Amino acid sequence: TWGRVRQDLLKAVGKNNYVTWIEPLEFERVDNGVARFNVPTNFIGNWVSRNFGDQIQQHLIRAGAPVERIEFSVPAGAPRPMTPAASNADSGEIRGTTPVRHATVKATSGDLPGAPLDKRFTFDSFVVGKPNQLAHAAARRVAEGGPVSFNPLFLYGGVGLGKTHLMHAIAWQLQNDRSDLRVVYLSAEQFMYRFVQALRENGTMQFKEMFRSVDVLMVDDVQFIAGKDSTQEEFFHTFNALVDQNKQIIISADRAPGEIKKLEERIASRLQSGLVVDLHPTDYELRLGILQHKVEQYRESYPGLVIQDGVLEFLAHRISTNVRVLEGALTKLFAFGSLVGREVTMDLTQDCLADVLRASDRKVTVEEIQRRVSEHYNMRMSDMIGPKRHRTIARPRQMAMYLSKQLTSRSLPEIGRRFGGRDHTTVMHAVKRIEELKAVDNQIAEDLELLRRMLEA
Ligand code: ADP
Ligand code: MG
Repeated sequence: TWGRVRQDLLKAVGKNNYVTWIEPLEFERVDNGVARFNVPTNFIGNWVSRNFGDQIQQHLIRAGAPVERIEFSVPAGAPRPMTPAASNADSGEIRGTTPVRHATVKATSGDLPGAPLDKRFTFDSFVVGKPNQLAHAAARRVAEGGPVSFNPLFLYGGVGLGKTHLMHAIAWQLQNDRSDLRVVYLSAEQFMYRFVQALRENGTMQFKEMFRSVDVLMVDDVQFIAGKDSTQEEFFHTFNALVDQNKQIIISADRAPGEIKKLEERIASRLQSGLVVDLHPTDYELRLGILQHKVEQYRESYPGLVIQDGVLEFLAHRISTNVRVLEGALTKLFAFGSLVGREVTMDLTQDCLADVLRASDRKVTVEEIQRRVSEHYNMRMSDMIGPKRHRTIARPRQMAMYLSKQLTSRSLPEIGRRFGGRDHTTVMHAVKRIEELKAVDNQIAEDLELLRRMLEA
């Protein structure tokens, strides 16, 4: 029955709501008129109960289950898929190739050269979604400190997508589970600073010894040392020495190794010799997940916190830049809400975040549409403008043209030009075709709606 009811709910609430709210529900049983569900978190339970409770009940009744009430409970020790998924750790299909032996080398030369770790940056507080799934799984694997891992692990991605968070999370877990290991985390800038200091104080021997005695070395934002020749050189030697000893190395950068300008070729290629994973820009689901997680954390300090329906969705739609901005907006909103002792309503949100919202209030471009649509259908961006005519490519391309017509002020010839110099009649045809399809094909209608919402966010 639940299987069918789920199908009905999918139609009733739309794909977006369905994925976020209905899919995490685990149907238990109906007894004495009470339908029982397991939910990953109380927050989801409350939300679903408030917003979708009636619909779920109605659909259950329609499917023949005499339900008077619905109850949601969080099973003890349940995996929590919407919040940081510890359970995801092992679901990654990636396998390591280079065995890393974590030998214990005790301190030989004074303090560890690392930077302090942020308490908030743990795996528990890291929300996993499609865009960061692989990076998260790889980080978990490395954090297990087991015999098989990736070396080096190279994480890259744009600002505010969680690179530093993941690195700290690895460091915390290793410190916790493997206190015998010497784990050092620092930024490339700090690495350089240490090195320059050592040069100045004739302490390069100690510097070398210190770094070469580390078991796990993490260097954040390594793009920083590009162009700094002697630092690069020293980093390279440290790197090689550690790899030779099978010590784990974890590197982050804002772009792929091969794309860092002024980074020596041989260094770039060494950096690519392990596992390279990127953190993709956040999608709507991930942003909503992060917001929900944050709200749950806040709830502990503000038990009376009331957030009007739709506020989180609104924020997830509208603030699509980086996670730091998203967090900042929420913090400001809550601080303000609790200050004036008010429910966090849509009005309050719009007032309080006017500046943030204006900043992210930009016009949709054809390029963005192409990017979103390609992402959505898992095709290459280059196929948007390329010549391929296979339907799996041509159809999304037509949808992108249609959306470009709907959401931008570009003319048909202008749109055609942006799709690899196609004729305006091609665009016109695409627009007509999608309009027809939209009327008869629910999937296409839904996809378009979803894409439109994401783009207008
Ligand atoms: P980066 O180092 O990639 O620029 P950070 O790791 O500093 O980004 O992340 C920026 C902020 O966003 C931090 O406060 C971090 O906790 C938060 N953040 C990023 N991604 C996530 C995520 N998936 N779940 C929870 N918080 C996140
Ligand atoms: Mg960072």
